[in-house]
This record gives sequence, C-alpha cells and structure tokens, in this order.
Amino acid sequence: MVACVALGGCAGGSEAPIEQVRVLRLTPAALITKQAPAREEQAPAQDEQTPTRDEQAPARDETIVRASVVSAPRSSLPPPMSVPDVGSIAAGATNDGRLLNGLLLPGSGPDWVTYDPGLGTTPSRAERRWGTDRLLAFLLYVLRDYRLANPGAPPVVIGDLSRPHGGPFGSDHGGLGHVSHQNGLDVDVFYPRRDRALLPPTRVAQVDRVLAQDLVDRFVAAGAQYAFVGLNVGLVGPPQVVRAIPHHDDHIHVRIAGWRR
Ligand SMILES: [Zn+2]
Repeated sequence: MVACVALGGCAGGSEAPIEQVRVLRLTPAALITKQAPAREEQAPAQDEQTPTRDEQAPARDETIVRASVVSAPRSSLPPPMSVPDVGSIAAGATNDGRLLNGLLLPGSGPDWVTYDPGLGTTPSRAERRWGTDRLLAFLLYVLRDYRLANPGAPPVVIGDLSRPHGGPFGSDHGGLGHVSHQNGLDVDVFYPRRDRALLPPTRVAQVDRVLAQDLVDRFVAAGAQYAFVGLNVGLVGPPQVVRAIPHHDDHIHVRIAGWRR
C-alpha cells in the first residue's frame, strides 16, 4: 500500500536540487470516494512541483466543494498507512530551523485533503507539505483515529507543513505565512466545517465545534506538544498544550517537538 521511494530532483525556485526525496505513495484504491463537484466547480488545481505520477493522478479528482463520505465498516477501510522511519532531522528551532531527510505528505489520502492557503486551491503545492517522518506518522495516526471514531465526518483539510528543506516560510510564500513551520514539526489543520465544505472556515460560525474539539482532543491524547487554537472558537484542552492565540480561528496549529513513536 505504501512505499518509500527515492526520486531525483524536486526542488523549487532558486534552491539547490534535492538529491533524494522520499514520497509516501498511495494506491488509487486508498483514496476516498468523493462527490463530483456541482455548480460551484472550480478550475482544476495544479500541483506545480509534482514529483511523481502518483501525486498527480488524484489531483484531477480534487476539484471538490463538499465531501460525500462513504460510511464503510472497518473491515473494508484501507489499511493504515505506515510511515517509514527515514531518519528525518528537525534541525534548529521551529522558528529558526531547517529540515533534513523530510517526507512529503501526499496531496490527499484516505483521511485528508490538502489546501493551499497561498493559492486557495486543493491540493496544496508539494513545496508546502514536507515534514519529519515523526510528524507524518503522528498526523496520519490521528487522522485515521479521528475518522474511525467519526465515520460520517468529511476528510480533514490539511494546510501547511514545512518547505522541502524547511527554513523561512513567511508571507512571501503566499497567504499569511508562518513564523514557525521551519523544521518539519508543525502542521496546520483546518477545523471541519458544518457545511462539510473541504475548505478553511471563513467564520467561526462555520466551524463544526464538536468535530473540531474531537480533533483537538485526539492531537492532545496522541502527545502533541502544542495545539494552538483560535481565540473565538471555544475549543479547550489542557492549558499547557491547548493555547488560544490570534489568527487561529480557522485552524489548529499542531506542533510535536519531543514526540517519539
Ligand atoms: Zn501553523
């Protein structure tokens, strides 16, 4: 189901080519069944720096406005993705660091889709989806756990992780940008929407607070160092982990520094 492969070159911009990258690969059968877009069809998203054909193929199906999730018995669900230990290194600090031997999160998977806050498209560009092997293992575990517990819930919409080598990820990369997200330990997870749209909520009233709280609880239970949430969404948790801060009324920012699998 999942393979760890080494590929040549996947660099963007003026960066030196990446000599070796590892990409989690999904079989088409592992992709979630989604409803065809209706009237609000958007232009097909382009993943400009797509490193593999497997990354490209699902993109054509991802002009999705709302999720239609098939509630299947556990026995028919795809097996969990195993994330290989590739020796990723989160160098430096989350706000002044870089990422070595990172892994690329697929643009979509059985439990998630990605969203590009710079372009407003799905999936997000590959250059925004890199993390340590630990972060991907942590994230995919929680997402699967959440979807098993909430079989009717839409896939979770994932925002930015880190850039291919980590480093600064400011607004010059689109959207609001990030102070942290520099060494593969941070991931933004948009709150589920009550209307099931696979998009970030634009107002607090759009947030499905029950599902959002469940996600927060699962990130906490799985051992997140921090789950930063919005000031106005009413999400709670252990104060040493769940912290309400500005600019997070549409997403949870999860950090896993110190987490070991
Ligand atoms: Zn963030």
